[in-house]
Amino acid sequence: MKVIGGRRSVLAGASGVGKSTLVNALVPGANLPTGPVRQKDQRGRHVTAAASVHELPGGGLIVDTPGIRELAMGIEATELPWYFPEIAELTPRCRFNDCTHSHEPGCAVRAAVEAGAISARRYRSYLRILETL
Ligand SMILES: [Zn+2]
Repeated sequence: MKVIGGRRSVLAGASGVGKSTLVNALVPGANLPTGPVRQKDQRGRHVTAAASVHELPGGGLIVDTPGIRELAMGIEATELPWYFPEIAELTPRCRFNDCTHSHEPGCAVRAAVEAGAISARRYRSYLRILETL
């Protein structure tokens, strides 16, 4: 809760990994349906049908998604930085208004990653999602 309290977070991942279970644990009364674990591969069934937003006790929002593919269908490449606040913050400093922060010259985000101001792990995650859009 320390990490996501007061922030906007999106749960994304393959179906059956327990995203809805996590929301239920964090948000009293969320009561999201979760699938029983299948005997064969120990993974839950895909039960999240649509993205849902939940307010966290003590502030902040958490978004449960059916899976990254379904989530990505509703996101434009130019909107992706909104889900990475540290990237969104630097976007206005990029040379180009439509910078995707992947290859453009004069990109403030890539400069920040190289300088260690933005986590390389987060940036790789951003690029992986960007590729799917
Ligand atoms: Zn950029």
